[in-house]
Formats: sequence, structure tokens, C-alpha cells
Amino acid sequence: MNLKNNSFLLLLLLVLFCACNKNIVSNKEVSKPISIIIHGGAGNFKESDMTPVARKEYENTLRLAIDTAYQVLEKGGSAVDAVELAIIVMEDSPLFNAGRGSVFNAEGKIEMEASIMDGSNRKAGAVTNVQLVKNPISLCKHIMLNADQFYLSGEGALAYAKKNGLKIETKEYFETESRWKKYEKAKKKNASELDHDEKMGTVGAVAMDKNGNIAAGTSTGGLNFKKFGRIADSSIIGAGTFADNTTCAISCTGLGEYFIRTSAAHEVSAQIKYKKVSLKDAMHDVLFEQIKPMKGRGGMIGIDSQGNVAAEFTTTGMYRAWKTSTGKSEVKIF
Ligand code: ASP
Repeated sequence: MNLKNNSFLLLLLLVLFCACNKNIVSNKEVSKPISIIIHGGAGNFKESDMTPVARKEYENTLRLAIDTAYQVLEKGGSAVDAVELAIIVMEDSPLFNAGRGSVFNAEGKIEMEASIMDGSNRKAGAVTNVQLVKNPISLCKHIMLNADQFYLSGEGALAYAKKNGLKIETKEYFETESRWKKYEKAKKKNASELDHDEKMGTVGAVAMDKNGNIAAGTSTGGLNFKKFGRIADSSIIGAGTFADNTTCAISCTGLGEYFIRTSAAHEVSAQIKYKKVSLKDAMHDVLFEQIKPMKGRGGMIGIDSQGNVAAEFTTTGMYRAWKTSTGKSEVKIF
């Protein structure tokens, strides 16, 4: 009787053990790491210059952007969709220099730039100096998925957006009083400037989805009082944005000319590929050993093929936030 009882107990334990083990394995199978990291521009701004109310506003918008993107990733959405959604939240907010709230160029017009890249197939979409398109990042995604040529400019980019039903807004929608004041200030000096040195900036996002695919996107109004159709790194694949599943996905912010001269986003990918360095080390090298000695400045965010997340900057601050399935989530400015 006793022996019979013991055997029954043993069998029960064995069944339970197998069931638990199966659960562990299947849990591992369904939940690949997911992550989202975003930036809202880097610049030399001081903590003391920021009111607690303004700080909260920035933090809340950054939080909303990562939460929106993370929910999509959790439901099995793609890294490309997560990047687009995070950037839409920031383009729709007047706080950032992208979409609504973009800076004015020397002619007093708002001309925006953006790019997106899918690391799974290295397809990309980009627009430069486009007006009136509510979400330039969505235009980039549409171009990436549907167009034969992937880098469109000015009138052509606007015509493409209208033809393909992207949301168009009036010019007043994009204009904000604070940016107009900065435009007038720059006009007096006749000099273009990095807008976020006064606490505002370009936006970007990088994500990894459940399939292990990574993607990156960047969107900007460019430099305040920019002249002669000047083009930023933000719309240039390899400079402000890059993604390759085998290495990393990167979005940059800062003085665009330096990020173009160093092919900054691609340089990080190349260092990981050929020098076998970590994401963080490669980012540090590009920002501190290449861009800084040239007197350039800025920052970047990235995710590598293993799902490691990193943010680096040479300025005093960079609006940034991230959320990963390993449980880490932070919103930071300084
Ligand atoms: N990179 C952008 C530009 O050069 C500016 C920024 O990142 O805020 O226009």
C-alpha cells in the first residue's frame, strides 16, 4: 500500500515537472526580447534653465511615445511600426522640432526632413525639405514600402504625399510662437542655429520586435534659420539613420554637417561588424573620437542585434527614454 502510494506520488511529481518545464520552454519561445528607445534632441541646455512644469511636459510626452510604441511591440507589431508610432507622438507635439512645432527656415517657412530604415531588409524611405505633411515619418514609411525611388524632396515629396492620401495640414498648424521668436532672433543675427541648444530638438526612435527585427527613424525641422535649401543628416541614410539586423539600428541628433561627414550612423554599424566592438563603444568612438575633435556635437540612440540598448551624447543633455522587455524603462533629459 505504502509502495503504491509512493509510486503514485512520484508519478505525479514527474508529470508536474514535465508540465512546468514545457511552460518554461514555451514561454521562452513566445517572448523574444522587445525594446524601444527614443530621443527628442541633444543640446547644451542647463537643468537650471528648465522649469519643473516644462520638464514634466517633456517627460510625459517622451513616456507617451515609448508606451505607445511598446504596446505595439507587445502585441507582435513590427519594429518599423513601433518606430513610426513613437515618432508620430513627438511630431504631433509642439514641444519638439519635428512636425508641428518645427523651426522656421531663413525665408520664414517650415520645411521638414525625415527618414526610416528597416534592418530586416535594409529598405529605406526618406524626405527632405517637405512642407505641410503632418507626419513626415509616415510619408517615409509609405515611400519605403511602395515607391521605386526612396529619397524625395520638396514639391515632389509633397505631391507624392497628396497623391497617396497622407495627412496634409495648413501651414498655421505647424507654426508656434516660441519658434517664431527664435526665428526673429536668428534673423537679427543673420545666423542659423541648433534649435535644441535652447532646449528643443529633432526626434528619433529605434526598436526591436518579437521577431528580432530592428528599425530606426529620425524626423526634424532642421536648423533654425537654415538657408539655401540646406539638408540635415536626419534624412540621410547612413548619416542620421541606419538599420541592419546583423549589426544595429541607430538614430542621431546634433549638428548635421558633422554626422554627414562621419557617416555617423553607418560608422557605428561598420565598427560593430568589422572591429567587433560593442554598440556603446562604437557610439562613443564616433561621437567623442571623431565628431567632437571636429568641433561637432550631438548624440545618438541605438539597439544592437542582441537587443542591447544604448544612448550617448557629447552635449549637456539629450531628451531620451527607453523601455525593454527585460524590465527596464527610463525617461531622462540630463
Ligand atoms: N541634426 C539636425 C540638423 O542638423 C538637428 C538636430 O538633430 O536637432 O538639422
